[in-house]
Amino acid sequence: MADSTRELSQAPESTTVVVIGAGPAGMTVANLLQRSGVDCVVLERRTREYVAQRQRAGIVETRAVRMFDSWGLADRVLGGVPHQGILELRVDGEPHLVSDYDGSEGPTARLCPQQMLVQKLTAEYLVNGGDLRFEAADVTLHDVTGDRPTVRYRTADGELRTLTCEFVAGCDGDHGISRTSVPDGTLTPYAFDHGIGWLTVLADAPPPAHPLLAVSPQGFAAHFPRGPYTSRYYLQCPPDDHPDAWPDDRVWDALRTRLGDPALVSGPITDREIFRLRSLVHDPMQYGRLYLVGDAAHIVSPMGGKGMNLALYDADLFARAVRDSVHDQDDTALRTYSERCLRRVWNDQEFSHWMTGMLHDAGDATNSGPFRRGLARARLDRLFTAPGAARAFSELMTGLEFGESAGPPR
Ligand SMILES: Cc1cc2nc3c(=O)[nH]c(=O)nc-3n(C[C@H](O)[C@H](O)[C@H](O)COP(=O)(O)OP(=O)(O)OC[C@H]3O[C@@H](n4cnc5c(N)ncnc54)[C@H](O)[C@@H]3O)c2cc1C
Repeated sequence: MADSTRELSQAPESTTVVVIGAGPAGMTVANLLQRSGVDCVVLERRTREYVAQRQRAGIVETRAVRMFDSWGLADRVLGGVPHQGILELRVDGEPHLVSDYDGSEGPTARLCPQQMLVQKLTAEYLVNGGDLRFEAADVTLHDVTGDRPTVRYRTADGELRTLTCEFVAGCDGDHGISRTSVPDGTLTPYAFDHGIGWLTVLADAPPPAHPLLAVSPQGFAAHFPRGPYTSRYYLQCPPDDHPDAWPDDRVWDALRTRLGDPALVSGPITDREIFRLRSLVHDPMQYGRLYLVGDAAHIVSPMGGKGMNLALYDADLFARAVRDSVHDQDDTALRTYSERCLRRVWNDQEFSHWMTGMLHDAGDATNSGPFRRGLARARLDRLFTAPGAARAFSELMTGLEFGESAGPPR
């Protein structure tokens, strides 16, 4: 009874955009809307501390760095250090350096761990007076096909709150409520399971000189910088394997063998999990006034480092489209939002799929067979010896293959 009295006492609040989720997509949308003079409220299910420590991606690609730069935000929200533009592909212990510098002018990719980007985006939004509500439970969407959608949620104190808005940005990832609020059959899912597992390990151990991807007869492995004394490692494993099957000694032995580096320095392992490599696209990325942004709409297998960068791309297009609608009553960009996002989504899916196939097939031939192993090794060889192939690779890594961006913000 007391609860329902409190629920009734809360008058609906009004805003222009409700953003669901405070990950990379949600906090980028929030900052770009704030810079555009469009008011919004961000609802995040978790605590600020939880969101701020979630470690995943590590490189903000060149295109995304330039996107933040065009909004005057690069220096404020991108931590870390500039990425030197070199990637090491190590094949059977033999190093090959490939460049992801495409020769264009402007700032380049940044080694910026995802949690650092989210922390800085959050701080920037809040210091400028942004409205961000953590521990928002039971978020539900209503009337998204009408003129004024409603979003309901429960505060940490158990109070029911209602927000009305013009647009909802569904930035709540693959397990959020935004996409599942869309009636069945409205969005078409395109899913692919690579049949590959990755053990991912975070450790307090020296980072490599360059991001390193290794092909070996024992399977794929990778070593990425995540800070001055922090590294993330990946080891190909059966998709249904369990992390308990990988005690520390086995992890370091496998890394030393597959990376071809008997002297690899180990360190305390702080996180260890196994996930399946999978890819997923939902089409369209819009339903009424609900726009899906980032992982809520698509998952890219981590090879090629595109998932977070795609989320940043969607966020930029969405914020510009809302700005045009709110300030200029021009809905053209909103109408084409899904189509334009999906063009890049499929492009990046293809790149990631190509790299995933090449770097797994070229190693352990148990799954791929000797013919695919031969093809994969030919692709690698072309990358190391044919300048045209190397250039196409670097353009795809930078994200600049379609040109720079959607143009400067007004
Ligand atoms: C191990 C791993 C490694 C990766 N490596 C890379 C990489 O190297 N490069 C790269 O570009 N990408 C990488 N990715 C992918 C990248 O992490 C994601 O693409 C990125 O996090 C997507 O951001 P997002 O904001 O769309 O979703 P998320 O980061 O999932 O954020 C969603 C937010 O919504 C919140 N939320 C969920 N449900 C609700 C709800 N009901 N109500 C309110 N809030 C809700 C969540 O708590 C979360 O804060 C990796 C992913 C994994 C798992």
